[in-house]
Parts: sequence; structure tokens; C-alpha cells
Amino acid sequence: MRYVSTRGRSPETTSAEAIKKGIASDGGLFVPDSPVYFSIEEIASLENLPYEKKAAFILKSYLTDYDEQDLQKAAEASYGEEKFDGGAVAPLQGLDKTRSVMELWHGPTYAFKDVALQILPKLLTCSMRMSGEKRVVVILVATSGDTGKAALEGFADVEGTRIVVFYPSEGVSEVQKRQMVTQTGANVGVIGVKGNFDDVQTGVKMIFGDRLLAEHLHEKGLVFSSANSINWGRLAPQIVYYFSAYSDLCKEKKVVLGDKVNFAIPTGNFGNILAGWYAKAAGLPINKLICASNDNNVLTDFLQTGVYNSNRPFHKTSSPSMDILISSNLERLLFEITDGDSASVSKWMALLAEKGSYDVGSEIKGKIGELFYGGWTDVSTAGKTILETWKSHNYLVDPHTAVALDVHRRYVEETMDNTHTVIVSTASPFKFNSTVAEAIFGESEQVATDEFDLLDRLSTFTHTPLPKGLRKLRNMNILHKDVCKPGEMKSRTIELL
Ligand SMILES: *Cc1c(COP(=O)(O)O)cnc(C)c1O
Repeated sequence: MRYVSTRGRSPETTSAEAIKKGIASDGGLFVPDSPVYFSIEEIASLENLPYEKKAAFILKSYLTDYDEQDLQKAAEASYGEEKFDGGAVAPLQGLDKTRSVMELWHGPTYAFKDVALQILPKLLTCSMRMSGEKRVVVILVATSGDTGKAALEGFADVEGTRIVVFYPSEGVSEVQKRQMVTQTGANVGVIGVKGNFDDVQTGVKMIFGDRLLAEHLHEKGLVFSSANSINWGRLAPQIVYYFSAYSDLCKEKKVVLGDKVNFAIPTGNFGNILAGWYAKAAGLPINKLICASNDNNVLTDFLQTGVYNSNRPFHKTSSPSMDILISSNLERLLFEITDGDSASVSKWMALLAEKGSYDVGSEIKGKIGELFYGGWTDVSTAGKTILETWKSHNYLVDPHTAVALDVHRRYVEETMDNTHTVIVSTASPFKFNSTVAEAIFGESEQVATDEFDLLDRLSTFTHTPLPKGLRKLRNMNILHKDVCKPGEMKSRTIELL
């Protein structure tokens, strides 16, 4: 299988090269050039395999140029017990007869990005070996919180790599900041930036686009790459847990093999939900993919009208990992749904860059609407959903997962579709403890102490043990104190390297 660019003006390549490059040279995203298919018997055969075996089985159909042994080893090293609590990568919790929650946050940083960012460094180093790459790969990350820490955990002390993470120094939660500035590893750099996430992202893009800097680094034996969700190496590992959830539902006899299920997904950059689409395209019996947004409801409007319009106010919400107006991975869906019409995709992406909006027309809108349902939930309803879910089910969810629960509830009201639905849970409730505590205890009750006291209080109240990585965080040494202005990001990067 080869990989092609969604914009059609970049040479086709192997999966290993696509992962090393991150983005195609024409600015497009890499996609497989032929479909993958798993029979229902193959899906059934996953039932009794541990997660790492499921991962190796699914991944080998997409990453065809990798050695099967290498994929097996990468999966074992990524999804074992020391990385994920007890080896639970994607466990299901039954909520009631028609809903299960898939918890994707048992990894080292307590958000679902670990599932892909644990294995990406291994896929990348394999790729470097396969292509005889001698340079050290420098992963440059701009983060609004979750990606930075997950990438640091994934790349820390990985041979042949360096990682530099920039975060808005006042724009992340206390827990998120503490997670990053205490990161150990000889190849890591973490720098705060006095600005918001957009400033950080713009700074990183400028460094990526700096030709002279790239030449200078090349002479020093270094090359930049990216670990954000436009990299196919982050998308492919996410396809696995859709299959895993389905085989678990069959095993628990919640559904009969061949029955369709829905997935409800808290969505930002459209990576997670797109992995669900690839799973469906590969034969997984999925009825609807429910795309749940917060107040930044650009995707809801797109699914309803076919017009993608990012010209709208940006809202800071309680589900910050979904505060996004340009959902990059939608580009891949548009390519797939138009049977590879790269000319149209290029046109729409140019319009998005120039005017901030584009219209795909009613036919394509209709096609997308057969598979996807879009809805959004405001901050106050998300809070009420956290409380309501706790009261009715004794189950604590984070604000991102709450958005998915609420959008799914309204989907059922509207459509009366009672198909068994997997709510995709993307973060531990403890990672977003101040929002969760406010929902559970009420604003007036919430003691205005630091986030670490709140963690203890939540844990005691809900009789839920604190994840150990968060418990020890308070007493860990702060190793990265550097804070710079946006204009200093480039010079800081050069100093670090
Ligand atoms: C990144 C993230 C999301 C959004 O996922 P996308 O793949 O960008 O759509 C949702 N929830 C949490 C907690 C996240 O970290």
C-alpha cells in the first residue's frame, strides 16, 4: 500500500516515509491509496487477544512496509502494564443497557493522546532505520495542554530523537503545567511562552517554515518532524480501539457479532472520529459516528449545512482540548468521501486559508450526513451532565466526555435510535479536576485552594483513588523553568539544540 497526499501534488510514498515527514510537501495530509478490509471472522478473532496483539494485527494492514515483528515489538513496548494501568488501554464501562464508555485515559498522561503518542516514537525510529536516516529527528510541539505532555512521555530518552515543547505559560491548567515542567529525560526541552496558544502555534509554524534554519540544522545532523495529529502515525493507532471496543462488546454479549453500534466522540481536530471512519470503511459494523463539539461548534454547522465557516468568535471552554476552529483532519474525510478528488480538496483548503470558509455542496453534505451526526453542548450543560452522570450512575466523567454524553442524549431524543453506543472518553476526570469539582460540589462550595488540594478532595468524595502519576506530581522537582516571549522561540530552539 502506498500513501498519497490529499492535495495530489506530492509524490506517493510508503507509510514509513509518511510518518517521518508528518505532512506532505504540497501541504496536504497523507492517506492510504487503497482500502483496507477486515472480514467479520477476522473481527471476531480479536476477541481473546490482548490489546497489543490487536494493535499489531490492525496496524499491519495499514503500515504494510513495516516488518511485522517490528510492529509487534512496538505495540508490546507501548501498551504494556507499566505504560497503561494494568495494561488497560481501552477498557469499557457499561453505563446502562444501551451505553458503554470506552476509557482511553489509562496511559501515562491521563488523556487519550497517549494511545497514539506512546507508539508513534517507535514507528518513527523504525522508519528512520528503514530509510537509513542518520540525522537526529527533532520533534517540535506547540501544545494547549494534553499533546505536549503525551509527546514528552512518548519521546523522552528515545534514541535518535530530541523533543522541544512550547506551551502558553498562563494558558494551561496547573496540573497540565506541572506535568510538563517536571518531565525527565536527557533529550527533552520544555519552554513556556508569554502569549496564548495561537501565538505559540504561530511561532512553531514559523520555525518549521524557516529554510535557513533547516539548512543550519541539516549541517548539524538534525531534522524537524511533527507529532501532532496530522501525522498518519498518530491516526493509524487510533483505528485499533474502535475494533477493540467492538470485540469487547461482543465478548460481553452486549451486541451480537455483525450488529451495528454507534460511537459518540468528543471532537476537536477531527483525528479521533476520523479513525472511527477508517474503522467503518474497513468493515467494522458502525451505524453512526456522533461528532460532539463544545461552543466552538464549527463542525456541527458543517455537518448540518455543508458550509465550513471558521469566521466566528473563539470560545475558551471547560473542554479546552476541543477549543479549535480549524479541524485539520477533516481534509482527509473530504478526500475519502469524494473518492480522492484532490482538486476539490485543494480548492476548499485554499478557500479556508484565504477566506476562512468553504462550501462542499449538497451532494457531499448528504453523503457525509449518512455516516455522521453533529451536535454541540455549552459549558453549563456539560457541567450539569457531569453532575447528572455522577448522581445516576456513580460514574465520574471529565468535561470532554460530558460533551459527548450530552450530544448523544439529544441524538437519541431526536432520532429514537437506540443502537448500542460507545461513548468515547478522552480524559481522566482528575485531569480536569477544577471543572469536575465545580460541577460536583457547586461553585460556592468549591474551596479556592490549589488544584492539588482539589484532587484529594475529589478523590475522597468519590471514593476513587487518584491516578498515581497525579498523586506524586505535587512533590516532583521542577526541571524546566524557562519562559520566553513569542519572538524568542526560534533563538531558544537553537540554544537548546
Ligand atoms: C485532543 C483531545 C480531544 C480532541 O480529539 P481530536 O482527535 O483532536 O478530535 C478531545 N478530548 C481530549 C481530552 C483531548 O485531549
